[in-house]
Amino acid sequence: GYRKGGYHAVRPGDQFAAGRYVAQRKLGWGNFSTVWLAFDVQSQRYVALKIQKSAPEFAQAALHEIEFLSEITKRDPSNCKCIIQLVDHFKHAGPNGQHICLVFELLGDSLLKLVQYNRYKGIGLDRVKRICKSILVGLDYLHNELGIIHSDLKLENVLLVSTIDPSKDPVRSGLKPNLERPEGNPNGEAALNAIEKKLKMRARRVLAKLAEKKKSAVESSRSERSLDGIDLTCKIVDFGNACWADKQFTDFIQTRQYRAPEIILGAGYSFSVDMWSFACIAFELATGEMLFTPKEGHGYSEDEDHLALMMELLGKMPKKIATMGTRSKEYFDRHGDLKRIRRLKLSSIERVLVDKYKISESDAREFARFLCPLLDFAPEKRPTALDCLKHPWLRYNEDGPLNNKDAKNIDLAQSTGSITSGDCTNIDLT
Ligand code: ATP
Ligand code: MG
Ligand code: MG
Repeated sequence: GYRKGGYHAVRPGDQFAAGRYVAQRKLGWGNFSTVWLAFDVQSQRYVALKIQKSAPEFAQAALHEIEFLSEITKRDPSNCKCIIQLVDHFKHAGPNGQHICLVFELLGDSLLKLVQYNRYKGIGLDRVKRICKSILVGLDYLHNELGIIHSDLKLENVLLVSTIDPSKDPVRSGLKPNLERPEGNPNGEAALNAIEKKLKMRARRVLAKLAEKKKSAVESSRSERSLDGIDLTCKIVDFGNACWADKQFTDFIQTRQYRAPEIILGAGYSFSVDMWSFACIAFELATGEMLFTPKEGHGYSEDEDHLALMMELLGKMPKKIATMGTRSKEYFDRHGDLKRIRRLKLSSIERVLVDKYKISESDAREFARFLCPLLDFAPEKRPTALDCLKHPWLRYNEDGPLNNKDAKNIDLAQSTGSITSGDCTNIDLT
């Protein structure tokens, strides 16, 4: 990690872009970067600062991400399309090399955290619907207006607009930024004092964390924590793997559990791969468990298990589709049956929702009606994001049907082909 070509080590108080951004604390990290909460002195607000590893392949990936994010941000001036906005980007020279840095609007926890916070039990269908609407607005914008395929949709890559725990939200809690520079001479008395102070603080933090863990263990043994009062709009992030529909970079995309069948088969792809992943996300939010978790077994590969799991839940793959891809022959015989997994345990999404996840028959039926078309083996038959936004499942929530105004706006959107850029009033996210 923190070596030549790798991550850039950051201390709270470190300055970036000639002092414009001051690092506060680490928010997260990925394979390519560390992401810091930073204070933007110029605009006097908090931002998320993504500091890429410095090796050329990471720099290249960052430039790629900037290309997509710039377009996304430019075409959404009123920031209502449920996609992360890029605020700025620059280069930062450090001991491990030159790091490309991306500055984003600050968002909250990921949907994965939300599910974890709810102890993998599913977050309730009304919340699922709200989150689905946000994601669909984002996907409609990406697909219809920009021609971009995200190609790595999953829970980690959708962030809530605010944090689950308001006390950890620097904006809502009115936290004062730390604008102090770290000490210059690493062996000076002041620097050693600072280290001493830091260690003491760290010890205190560890103890506080322990106490918090103890408390939450007690709490969670009593009852699950409330998700009430959380603003459930969210935004799609991480465009490190995005591509243009008409200019693709690789055949092999998506994170395993969210991967569409045409990718496994090597049969080409389009926007509808994102719709497949979207369905996986909706299921996972509702149940707390991934829709497909394939594993390699005796005599078959992870890919084959994945295809088998899909067919157990969604029915047999039509022969024409099964045999169409460049890798079809590895998995299927000429009759369109899996070569090495012969017996399938047939079920259906609806049955699984009722039997395994104890969702009521009527809720399960309606939810399955929404999900199943998205999981069509034929990519071109999957509904688009805009189709989904018009689906009855999303137009009814705990407040009853959407009001006339919304219905009219959605019809309008339909008649003009897509929702026009810059107009944020078309679809109600509440
Ligand atoms: P990956 O390995 O997934 O490609 P990456 O290095 O490209 O990771 P990101 O996925 O962009 O990095 O970000 C890493 C983490 O930082 C996220 O999962 C999230 O927790 C946090 N993060 C990213 N952007 C923001 C933001 N705008 N606001 C708050 N947190 C963020
Ligand atoms: Mg990521
Ligand atoms: Mg990435």
